[in-house]
Amino acid sequence: MSARHTRVLILGAGPAGSTAAIYAARANLKPLLVTGRRAGGQLTTTTPYVENFPGFAEPVEGPVLMEQMRRQAENVGTKVMYDIITFVDISMRPFRLQGGFGNTYTTYTADALIVATGSEARWLGLPSEKTFKGFGVSANAIFDGIFYRNKEVVVVGGGDSAVQAALDLSHLASKVTVVHRRDRFRAESILKDRLLSKPNVDVIWNHAIDEVIGEHEPNKWVTGVRIRDVNTGDVRELPTHGLFVAIGHDPATALFRDQLDMDRAGYIKVGSWSTKTSVPGVLAAGDVIDPMFRQAITAAAMGSIAALQAEKFLIEHPPAPIAPARSAGPWWPVRPLHGGG
Ligand SMILES: Cc1cc2nc3c(=O)[nH]c(=O)nc-3n(C[C@H](O)[C@H](O)[C@H](O)COP(=O)(O)OP(=O)(O)OC[C@H]3O[C@@H](n4cnc5c(N)ncnc54)[C@H](O)[C@@H]3O)c2cc1C
Repeated sequence: MSARHTRVLILGAGPAGSTAAIYAARANLKPLLVTGRRAGGQLTTTTPYVENFPGFAEPVEGPVLMEQMRRQAENVGTKVMYDIITFVDISMRPFRLQGGFGNTYTTYTADALIVATGSEARWLGLPSEKTFKGFGVSANAIFDGIFYRNKEVVVVGGGDSAVQAALDLSHLASKVTVVHRRDRFRAESILKDRLLSKPNVDVIWNHAIDEVIGEHEPNKWVTGVRIRDVNTGDVRELPTHGLFVAIGHDPATALFRDQLDMDRAGYIKVGSWSTKTSVPGVLAAGDVIDPMFRQAITAAAMGSIAALQAEKFLIEHPPAPIAPARSAGPWWPVRPLHGGG
């Protein structure tokens, strides 16, 4: 087990955390950037190309964009830690965080903390969805789409994630059916137009998924979904080889429950034009505070504000001495890893 102290610890290496790291490093705060499971954040796993991040005349691959941000952060003095934080205590400064990756455990202490843990895919919450998760039910068209080459798939959802997933799958699957509970998409216009012009894409409006149907022997696999007309209540079966769930994302803030003020959906509360949370010295940026826009560019902008506010906080509140260990054993409750990353 090792211990590390830093003036600013940044939790999360998506656009928000990476930008915060660039700004904090340029302020000479020598930040530590803890990546979590998904170094680079959502753009590395959910979308093949990013077309709306300024500075790239041609679409840039999500992993390439995030690799550039990481390198930029390192080049100006950020130390990147490939670790997953499993427990946090922000009841006093320095803040304490417990990292655990494989058999390696690291205790971090930090004078200021920037929370940029992003968001995670939301599931329908059906028992049958759970049964077939990984056996025909997925929330990641980029990773799992390849298994559906020349097969028929259903995508459920109507926002950017669903339309993007359906577009990505339309290049592989023989047919993509989008099931949406409303009568129009909420997605960006350019994506909607692209999707609706695809010959192998159908949309079933005003329907919800009631159940995933499949076989259990000898292996589990999906054969269809039961869909319900939300207006009439009529139920019918739709044959499919796979179901992609793309109904939105929830903020990855479980680590901070009962420690930071949050709204009912789990978004961390901050002031207007501010990334300050309910705990002085803890800033939050990106999807964890943003139920509305959730874009790489908005996350990056908030990351820069968080770093600037962390710098100001540290000037106004010089570091407290590091508290002695509270017991001979681990100071964090020993429990299984949780939270995303
Ligand atoms: C399908 C899809 C397509 C999209 N396409 C676009 C697009 O084209 N353009 C655009 O601008 N935006 C797009 N977005 C939105 C964009 O990806 C997000 O708004 C953005 O990534 C949010 O950045 P973030 O830094 O707040 O969080 P994230 O990118 O989610 O990063 C979170 C980071 O926190 C880390 N983390 C989480 N938990 C822990 C933990 N316990 N310990 C340590 N680290 C942890 C993760 O590993 C990760 O590094 C898309 C989203 C989806 C789902």
